[in-house]
Amino acid sequence: MTLVTPVPLAELTTMRVGGKPKTLNRCESTGELYEAVRESWDSEEKYHVLAGGSNTVFADDLSDMNIILVANRGIETISETEDQIVLRVQAGESWDEFVAWAVGQGYAGIEAMSGIPGSVGATPVQNVGAYGQEVSQVITQVEFLDRETGELATRPNGYFDFSYRDSALKRGRKGVIGWVEFRLQKLGGLSVPMASGQITNHVGAEYGSQLPLQQVRDVVLELRGSKGMVVSESDPDSVSCGSFFTNPVVSNSKALEFPEDIQKWSMDDQQSVKLSAGWLIENAGIPKGYSLPGSKAAVSSKHALAIINTGGATGAEIAELARFIQERVSSRWGMNLIPEPNLIGF
Ligand SMILES: Cc1cc2nc3c(=O)[nH]c(=O)nc-3n(C[C@H](O)[C@H](O)[C@H](O)COP(=O)(O)OP(=O)(O)OC[C@H]3O[C@@H](n4cnc5c(N)ncnc54)[C@H](O)[C@@H]3O)c2cc1C
Repeated sequence: MTLVTPVPLAELTTMRVGGKPKTLNRCESTGELYEAVRESWDSEEKYHVLAGGSNTVFADDLSDMNIILVANRGIETISETEDQIVLRVQAGESWDEFVAWAVGQGYAGIEAMSGIPGSVGATPVQNVGAYGQEVSQVITQVEFLDRETGELATRPNGYFDFSYRDSALKRGRKGVIGWVEFRLQKLGGLSVPMASGQITNHVGAEYGSQLPLQQVRDVVLELRGSKGMVVSESDPDSVSCGSFFTNPVVSNSKALEFPEDIQKWSMDDQQSVKLSAGWLIENAGIPKGYSLPGSKAAVSSKHALAIINTGGATGAEIAELARFIQERVSSRWGMNLIPEPNLIGF
């Protein structure tokens, strides 16, 4: 565990907001990570576990906050057969570097989640997903230090009660993840069946087709790039946390109350649908590119669901725009939009 000189957290987050914390503890092994977390639990001081900073909006004053930075790296093969491989990946490993590596090795199951920023260890927290894939489909087990019991244990997938962009970790189970194990498929260089019409339509293939892994990765990066969803110095619309709100899930009958042209997706249970939060926002009178007078926070010019920092925004400005969008959508559509990123220190 290395205590490094604190820098403003704007420098460690993709939204580029957040003040200087009291301390910054960089942990390069699971041992260091667990030690830092245990010390924080024993003290009365405020602390926060930060990894890639791509799903976190920090407040401007963090002078009483101790930050534990997850920086343990490594990928290890646990078991392998002709058809499958189980990999243990350290929490601080970059998610997209892991995906790129897996695609290069011919391992299928995470290819559609290319281009998602952040760390491997944060992926179980909100059951990261995109284009018809979610990490809950491939996670076998996780090493988890539980705050309530103080126990360090290997926990199976079911322990985290995953659902759409959600897990027990977002609903109050507290602790820290040291590593995550994934079971990936060996399908002769092909992907798992694609559960995203956006991908299959783009290449003129049938829904459910298996495509070359590298082709899936390339298509996903292209699609994501067109929406500002790949973090890039050259794309001002990517100074964000990705989608700022989750798409609300409602019953099939509730969905009938909305205009026919609302974009929606069926959920696995066939009883409910996910409504497009972007549609709700735009149809509440908030267009792409919108900002409040004098504010440097804005709605992305490419995607109504992303809030961006146009340059020098404060955490307070990001939070103010988020609240404004929630109020507008609530009064126009009666829907309560839930923020996807973690809002810390507000
Ligand atoms: C341009 C862009 C596009 C995005 N697209 C998507 C997308 O398509 N799908 C999607 O699901 N998400 C997306 N995101 C959100 C984000 O990338 C993911 O949520 C990612 O998993 C966050 O990882 P991180 O390491 O940056 O997490 P951080 O922001 O550092 O942390 C997020 C949360 O996880 C906790 N945490 C982090 N590491 C650990 C650990 N080891 N143990 C316990 N808790 C931990 C933190 O305390 C915090 O509560 C996008 C973000 C951006 C900026």
